[in-house]
Amino acid sequence: MTARPLAVVGASAAGLAAAETARRSGWTGPLTLIGDEPHLPYDRPPLSKQLLHGTWESERLLLRTADQLAPLDLDLRLGTRATALDAATRTLTLDDGARLACAGIVVATGVTARTLPGADALDGVLTLRTLDDAVALRARLAGAGHRLAVVGNGVLGCEAAAVARELGHEVTLIGRDAFPMARAVGPEVGMLLAEEHRTRGVHLLTGDVADFLTGPVPGTTGGVRLTDGTEVPADTVLLAIGSDPAVDWLRGEPALDTTDGLRCDAYCAAAPGIYAAGDVARWDHPLHGVPLRFEHRMNATEQGMAAARNLLAELAAETAPGPDTPERRPFAPVPYFWSDQYGIKLQAYGLTADADRTETTVLDRAARSAVALYGRDGAATGVLAAGLPPRQVRALRAVVATPQPWEEARARARAVLAPA
Ligand SMILES: Cc1cc2nc3c(=O)[nH]c(=O)nc-3n(C[C@H](O)[C@H](O)[C@H](O)COP(=O)(O)OP(=O)(O)OC[C@H]3O[C@@H](n4cnc5c(N)ncnc54)[C@H](O)[C@@H]3O)c2cc1C
Repeated sequence: MTARPLAVVGASAAGLAAAETARRSGWTGPLTLIGDEPHLPYDRPPLSKQLLHGTWESERLLLRTADQLAPLDLDLRLGTRATALDAATRTLTLDDGARLACAGIVVATGVTARTLPGADALDGVLTLRTLDDAVALRARLAGAGHRLAVVGNGVLGCEAAAVARELGHEVTLIGRDAFPMARAVGPEVGMLLAEEHRTRGVHLLTGDVADFLTGPVPGTTGGVRLTDGTEVPADTVLLAIGSDPAVDWLRGEPALDTTDGLRCDAYCAAAPGIYAAGDVARWDHPLHGVPLRFEHRMNATEQGMAAARNLLAELAAETAPGPDTPERRPFAPVPYFWSDQYGIKLQAYGLTADADRTETTVLDRAARSAVALYGRDGAATGVLAAGLPPRQVRALRAVVATPQPWEEARARARAVLAPA
């Protein structure tokens, strides 16, 4: 009888980390990595930065070359989509008709970009999630004097707007929130970002898109119309309006909760032998006490590693329990994300969204250098640093590594900022 494989669904940051960790942790059986994109695993953050800018080519985004993947001895199935999962038998169905009865499964299918009704029918309305999306957007921004409307002023929309402006295009950034990235970082930091985008020549608009304008050539976009009637003429419209967890393929399995991602416990387990990692996983963070799901690059790698380790520990306990069987460990990272816009680097640790209390210290308005502390229910839960040296950023991370009483964290953050 052939040994059952360990299968990872989703061949990107989280999936690759899970596969590599499984091998490193001693999985010697068959290891299958399934991804519906045709590309080897690649890194997404540069899509809205270096790749869009033209400073990096696609090859530089690869997380591993084919040669680097070879020692993993993967059964690599690219361009293949998982269409169903039977949790009781741990069996995957793939879109080529294959059925794969597995020893264990890591789900790392990420998220898909949201779109708007009518977008598919028009040439020039794009989203930005995949390498192919980024290459298509970059091709449209080649040459000069293009008009770009970016719908959505979250992190992705802001980064794309910044790059398009740096390339010399006319850019309008449209968001529901009054300030860029306000939902993630609060209004004060959002205001600083708004100032920078305005200074650089981006038109900022607050509003909701009602429909698309049509361009001079039938079937092409001519921009967008907002619900208040404002028309924003554009040759290209980028929809950066958020994303949805890629869980549609799991919906037929009643044992799995797919409400806003694949629901997991503190060990990243969704069901016996089935784990999840990365943007798709909503798990119980042991320190924050609420189910969380992050769309952050570092979390994808860290959670991919944790999910694979815990899955192997579970399999070891199932097949050969004993004193040396590794223990599963709760996944308790300090959440981290960054964003690059123009020359500004924003770095955030802990929880910054949904704060009921924020204190922002602007250190240098012109340089957009600032620190913000975020809190909830009397505890400091997150911190953001813009334009700060790495030493101070590291010290601020330590302040929120675990939720702290607000006043204590505030005093510690101030001490980090005090002149030496
Ligand atoms: C343009 C862009 C810029 C970003 N910039 C930053 C940044 O500056 N900082 C930061 O912290 N984070 C950033 N992120 C977020 C970061 O890239 C993600 O958090 C990370 O890629 C998540 O990795 P993942 O492996 O969980 O999911 P993904 O990278 O989404 O990979 C999931 C993979 O699974 C595939 N898949 C989906 N369904 C199936 C199926 N049924 N069968 C087979 N395969 C399937 C998908 O096609 C995809 O290839 C950015 C994201 C984007 C798109």
